[in-house]
Amino acid sequence: MKKNEEFELKITDLSDEGAGIGRTSETGPDDSGAGFIWFVKDALIGDRVLAAATKVKKNYGFARLVRVLEPSPDRVQPLCQEARRCGGCQIQQMGYAAQLKFKEDKVWNDLVRIGGFDPRQLVRTDREIIKHAKGQILFEPIIGMEEPWRYRNKAVYPIGRDRNGSLIAGFYAGRTHSIISCSDCMLGPEENREILQYILDHMERHSISPYDETTHTGVVRHVLIRQGVHTGELMVCLVINADGLKTARELGEKMQKVFPALRSFSLCVNKERTNVIMGTRLIQIIGPGYIEEEIQGVRFRISPLSFFQVNSLQMERLYGTALEFAGLTGQETVWDLYCGVGTISLFLAGHAKKVYGVEIIPAAIENAKENAALNGLTNAVFYTGAAEDVLPRWYEEQKASDVDVIVVDPPRKGCDIRCLETMVAIAPSRIVYVSCDPATLARDLKYLCGHGYMLQRVRPCDMFPHTVHVETVVLLQKSNS
Ligand code: SAH
Repeated sequence: MKKNEEFELKITDLSDEGAGIGRTSETGPDDSGAGFIWFVKDALIGDRVLAAATKVKKNYGFARLVRVLEPSPDRVQPLCQEARRCGGCQIQQMGYAAQLKFKEDKVWNDLVRIGGFDPRQLVRTDREIIKHAKGQILFEPIIGMEEPWRYRNKAVYPIGRDRNGSLIAGFYAGRTHSIISCSDCMLGPEENREILQYILDHMERHSISPYDETTHTGVVRHVLIRQGVHTGELMVCLVINADGLKTARELGEKMQKVFPALRSFSLCVNKERTNVIMGTRLIQIIGPGYIEEEIQGVRFRISPLSFFQVNSLQMERLYGTALEFAGLTGQETVWDLYCGVGTISLFLAGHAKKVYGVEIIPAAIENAKENAALNGLTNAVFYTGAAEDVLPRWYEEQKASDVDVIVVDPPRKGCDIRCLETMVAIAPSRIVYVSCDPATLARDLKYLCGHGYMLQRVRPCDMFPHTVHVETVVLLQKSNS
């Protein structure tokens, strides 16, 4: 197969990045006879497509979707016109029920293929049956969204000019850095469009230039918008390539009149030549430096720089499931490793005797402490450091282990082996693992189940509809306890 050559292909699988996967019988240049594997962006399982080779490797290649010849039964018209050009969503062309099934299958398959769990042990169940026989693992249905649109509480739009020189807000096209105009992302709230338009009009009126990264000139780089879904509070922050903006106060006051929910308006200085969006220096123009969000009765302060899960509704359900799995009575000592701004820790704190949170980013720990104080929770203690350093050191010093439950919510690479080893040594009766990558989850579960733990419950959760990502919460129980 040569570059640009067109060929027909039946799509049978989806890659982790959401590209359709199909095989042709043609042998590769090495003549191994194994056939060719093709990755076709925007193609779906069940589609028969006409594809054009874009990159041909030894026994796999990448191809562009030229035309869908026979659509998959799961194929739908994407709601967003820019779905193909924008990298934000990968599977908008897949009906939502099919997306959920795809994600469930992904978790299941990784548990079997990578985790080595016997598919006969895994029992698909609805939520009614939560008693299980010895050795059974309950695989509970994925938690989907009733309304899988406009769920993001945070949006960041680059600002630039189109070919005609008009000011635009949008997203970066593919891997390039040219901006495509699009101010109504279907994953964010509708009001974002009006807010962006208001800011662009203000820039036009006062001749404020957008940032141009090729020449490193111009002022406004990005607009960050955050919303407290449950509090209704709104935050706007302009990321600027300058030390200030003369008309910022005027802009803020006017915006407050038009958007009464606006609680905080600030500038974030970023004068570096960098792809990193946010700078470190904030200039507060209107209101406090934060907005608040309330999740299951716990209030959180969110600054322009702090990390916070982007889907408030699903976060409540995901962490609610983690809380349920933790099975707390109020008497337990719990560790929350990879605790971020303490979201899970503070959920747990209301139901446990003591909670210890560990997180590597100091600023997140500052937020966690503030959030604990804000909610009057005095039984949560936070440590800054790597989980694989803090936990072993603590265990070394204590020698005893009165830990009842360990909750982990690691980044995609999963838990460090030193962390897993110490968890096993501490031997809590329950481990709750919250994961954003089923492959590393399966790998870590294999270790834990080889060292005295039994996997009992698995529940996937769709935090990011229309993307290929899937979160999972699982419960492990110490054998013989
Ligand atoms: N539950 C958290 C989010 C967890 S995301 C919340 O709701 O806020 C994973 C977190 O792990 C990130 O905050 C990341 O900074 C942190 N992290 C990454 N590597 C780590 C390590 N080795 N030890 C501790 N924390 C780590």
